[in-house]
Amino acid sequence: MIMHETPSTIRRIAMPARIALAHGGGGQLTDDLVTQLILPRLGNDVLNELTDAAVLHAGESHIAMTIDSYVVHPWRFPGGDIGRLAVSGTVNDLAVCGAKPLGIALSLILAEGLERSVLEAVLDSIHSTAREADVRVVTGDTKVVGRGQADGIYITTAGVGAIEATHKLGIGQVQTDDALLINGPIADHGLAVMLAREMPDMTSSIKSDAAPLNGLIALLLAELGSDIAFMRDPTRSGLSGVAADLARASGLHLTLCENEIPIRPETRHASDMLGLDPLEVANEGKVVVVVRPDAAMTALQIMRTHPLGRDAAIIGRLSDPADGICEIETAIGGRRIIQKPYGEQLPRIC
Ligand code: MG
Repeated sequence: MIMHETPSTIRRIAMPARIALAHGGGGQLTDDLVTQLILPRLGNDVLNELTDAAVLHAGESHIAMTIDSYVVHPWRFPGGDIGRLAVSGTVNDLAVCGAKPLGIALSLILAEGLERSVLEAVLDSIHSTAREADVRVVTGDTKVVGRGQADGIYITTAGVGAIEATHKLGIGQVQTDDALLINGPIADHGLAVMLAREMPDMTSSIKSDAAPLNGLIALLLAELGSDIAFMRDPTRSGLSGVAADLARASGLHLTLCENEIPIRPETRHASDMLGLDPLEVANEGKVVVVVRPDAAMTALQIMRTHPLGRDAAIIGRLSDPADGICEIETAIGGRRIIQKPYGEQLPRIC
């Protein structure tokens, strides 16, 4: 999640007296929650950056730290489950900040009556995903709440990582003419969860993309170094959220090319059926990478050598005029402005 000064042209609505489901969607309403309630009370120079992971300095060392909660419903869905999501999400938030994950802290909130077999399956999934990411769960906590006081299982994972890169990654590094890449097809996670929840009897080949990306990202950083300006995982609020934030926070014009954005036909079909814009649907195994123009083709080739980047594509470019606007060239040659989604179509997607 990232937010910077909101241009006066963008609406600002005072927080209502009660929290709405959409305040958790990762869109403009989540931004309101963070900027109007949290930052005025807890803000500081590190928290105010609102990066995927905070970067802390200890002598010569740079440590990255992140935390996320997972309340996805159902707990298991095609392509993953809440355990795989928790480990992948935390690892990815560290990795996109250029950090190598050192350890994960795991907190489980279990509802009275949860079947033991569910907990075992989730723990097995956490174990296998952590192995895949070459990271360990090094501390944790468990709480049980009364029947009906929580829905099954909620997970909070925090992660700590070491930053070895000698250069700084961040929106501040983004320049005119930089290229935007993504490592594969969008919207699979959100749609897999939505279909599992809303249409459990429907058979579909859509699977969540939930996966730890630290291997792919380490490869890119090792090969390209300071040619990489910025990375972010397009989770809640999807590619639209990241693209709109990137344009606004860099102050540059970002043009996405719809024809270049990878999306599986079955995912597009499901989006159409549900009335969703796939650009706004959550991903859990995708990274958006901003690289210098001369390095774009090399970055693409490196991504495509990795199993999680086989369908990588160059999907956009930053340019002048410096208007902070993101637009998309549509498949039929039109243009439209991309805004950060307001809330989210369905809650509990991650
Ligand atoms: Mg993130």
